[in-house]
Amino acid sequence: MSTADADRMHRHDSASAQVVLDYVAWRVALAEPPLDGLGDRRHLEQMVEGLIGPGPRDVREVLDVYADHLSETILSTDSPRNFAFIPAAPTEAAVLFDMVVSAASLQGCSWLEAAGAVVAENQALRVLADAAGMPATAGGVFVAGGSAGNLSGLAVARDLARLRRRSAGASEQGLRVVVSDQAHSSIASALNLLMLDALVVPTRDGRLTRADLQQALDRETTLADVVAIVATAGTTNAGIVDDLAAAADAAQAHGWWFHVDAAYGGAALLSRKVRDRFAGIERADSMVTDPHKWWFAPFDCAALMYANPHLAKAVHTQDASYLDVLHGPDDDLNPSDLAYHLTRRARGLPLWFSLAVNGLDAYRDAVDAAIDLTHYAAERIRHSPVLELVREPELSVVLFRRHGWTADDYDRWSRQLLTEQVAFVMRSAWRGETVGRLVFLHPGTTQAMVDQVLDSLT
Ligand SMILES: *Cc1c(COP(=O)(O)O)cnc(C)c1O
Repeated sequence: MSTADADRMHRHDSASAQVVLDYVAWRVALAEPPLDGLGDRRHLEQMVEGLIGPGPRDVREVLDVYADHLSETILSTDSPRNFAFIPAAPTEAAVLFDMVVSAASLQGCSWLEAAGAVVAENQALRVLADAAGMPATAGGVFVAGGSAGNLSGLAVARDLARLRRRSAGASEQGLRVVVSDQAHSSIASALNLLMLDALVVPTRDGRLTRADLQQALDRETTLADVVAIVATAGTTNAGIVDDLAAAADAAQAHGWWFHVDAAYGGAALLSRKVRDRFAGIERADSMVTDPHKWWFAPFDCAALMYANPHLAKAVHTQDASYLDVLHGPDDDLNPSDLAYHLTRRARGLPLWFSLAVNGLDAYRDAVDAAIDLTHYAAERIRHSPVLELVREPELSVVLFRRHGWTADDYDRWSRQLLTEQVAFVMRSAWRGETVGRLVFLHPGTTQAMVDQVLDSLT
């Protein structure tokens, strides 16, 4: 094979590049992306069959397969009509800079390789730490998601506890972590991987309160095996913020690690309306919040913050002879040393760019707009003869029941709204009961869009 063949795919081809860039420009410019629909696996597999062969294929031909067939079965998380799960709404600046991160193959492992990226990511992390009121010593890293952040944060909690126990001659087995019955599924998954057990606190109405916590702890014969407590600042199902001060007090009293999972709710730290609900978050040893959720950054981006990142470095630094060169002065913490990963996309840069371009006030306004819309929807539900709020919303999630409906009815409703491209909604459950759920996040969502959804329930 000649060299000319080997580098063909790395050579600039302006015509092919323009085809893709035009598509990107079109997608970015859409005022309201279509929700799109569900996919039929057989049909989709036929569409891509034989596409990858030994020889080249025209860029436009392959892009057409994506644009005409695949993309239409990838529901638009960034549609203002998407109220299911936790939707997304990346700013234009963030989306555009995400392309810069890709175009320049920006990685963000270490100071040695990527000082400029680390400085910018740290500046964005400092904004998040300040919003939470974390100390000046705080530092962290952007990881792929809240799940990865929770795992990495709790790994530090576990290893510090093990170390302490080892030096005290105490058992390192059967260690437990206090969690509420509403903690995100990724917490259970992380505890499983870390071989930690959960001490589950039953909550009376979904919120981990001081009383719930005290009652659960009082029932235990010993707490000597407990190493950490996890509180949620914005539960995924209902948007509930735990009593973070109560969790912090318990952690302080018992010498536990205090981890706050604010993957969804953390952006509300910017809110002018609900900030007081988060009192106590500033005392977290580790905290996770997802920019790819309510901080309007593209996937995949979660921030993992530590009050003392040097503790994380001691746990997560990978040792290999070829990595020794990366470890410089102690104050220069390499992002790759603060979580379970090594090579990493500089995924905090789109958030950094957008924060700088748009300013924090725009973020505050956008977060509060979602909270206002939540109040609007709740008020309408309160006045509907056929609907009922399951619980007063705290952030931007509304849980409601439609009298007389079963899971099948909610599913039919969901399918119909998607078919009509009115909205993407998904049912959920509350204390075993099937309920409707709406999540507001996109600043482009209008009251008229919400009206359309609620009117379809009557
Ligand atoms: C979304 C979410 C997670 C998981 O985050 P991913 O980014 O999906 O991995 C964890 N905890 C809470 C509270 C969440 O809302």
